Amino acid sequence: MSVYLRPKRTEEALERLAAAPLTVLAGGTDHYPARVAKPLGEDILDITALDALRGIRRTPEGWRIGATTRWTQIIEARLPPLFDALKQAAREVGGVQIQNSGTLAGNLCNASPAADGVPALLALDAAVELASIRGTRRLALENFILGPRRTARRADELLTAILIAKPRLAARSRFLKLGARRYLVISIAMVAAVIEIEAERVAAARVAVGACSPVAQRLPALEAALVGAPLDESLGARLRAEHLAPLAPIDDPRGTAAYRREAAQILVARCLNMLGSPA
Ligand SMILES: Cc1cc2nc3c(=O)[nH]c(=O)nc-3n(C[C@H](O)[C@H](O)[C@H](O)COP(=O)(O)OP(=O)(O)OC[C@H]3O[C@@H](n4cnc5c(N)ncnc54)[C@H](O)[C@@H]3O)c2cc1C
Repeated sequence: MSVYLRPKRTEEALERLAAAPLTVLAGGTDHYPARVAKPLGEDILDITALDALRGIRRTPEGWRIGATTRWTQIIEARLPPLFDALKQAAREVGGVQIQNSGTLAGNLCNASPAADGVPALLALDAAVELASIRGTRRLALENFILGPRRTARRADELLTAILIAKPRLAARSRFLKLGARRYLVISIAMVAAVIEIEAERVAAARVAVGACSPVAQRLPALEAALVGAPLDESLGARLRAEHLAPLAPIDDPRGTAAYRREAAQILVARCLNMLGSPA
């Protein structure tokens, strides 16, 4: 008979994970669809009662988003413009029911190439905190997601928080997603960008594209080309085709590789124009 555990304390959850192989369950919105028409025989560690891991906290270094924080809480949180891209991504994840139960941490741990939270967090230069009874370690998000459905999480670890450092300067961000219809859709391509601003110019930029490579990718050559650019609605004109070199889109039922590449180019330029625009 399979086991279903729902601890209330993080320490107990970590002890259980250390003692036996368990499948972590948060909102279940990736877990259950992956098991349609399959027997549910796994031993489960349900983390939804770990209230200490729920919510977004300000820290001296920046912000800490606990692992059981749901998309709806991200949408409703009072956060600076730095987080607009993450909030915009949250509003486009599934529908309200999915946002009410799905978590940002689950989105990362599931490691889908089309996970909407990943580009937004790459543009925020986020890190993840992984805890086990052996201790806690911190990994940059780009070192955590290793490939489709593959992460650096060890079997006895729980992702306990997502960490976002305070930027040096005033920052704003934006997220754009292309899907086959307006709502409840898996991304064909999506982009998130953060710019830091000094004297009406871009002082630093981070741009990430998702669903166009096995893991969402930052565009470092574009980020470098944006530094020093004046803030206006033609910021996207800095984009060159070669800046998209890290992307490796594929053909699948949602779109061809060529369509995805073109969509990514348009979305990146549009996103930057929006960020540059005073409105
Ligand atoms: C109808 C529908 C629409 C959707 N639309 C979108 C969409 O538009 N965009 C999008 O990106 N996604 C979408 N999703 C996918 C899903 O809702 C999200 O990825 C969601 O954020 C997953 O979070 P969860 O808490 O439900 O994860 P779960 O399903 O509970 O878990 C997902 C995976 O992460 C692991 N896990 C979860 N939390 C932890 C943790 N703290 N530590 C270690 N491992 C953990 C689990 O073991 C599992 O492998 C959709 C899903 C459905 C059913």
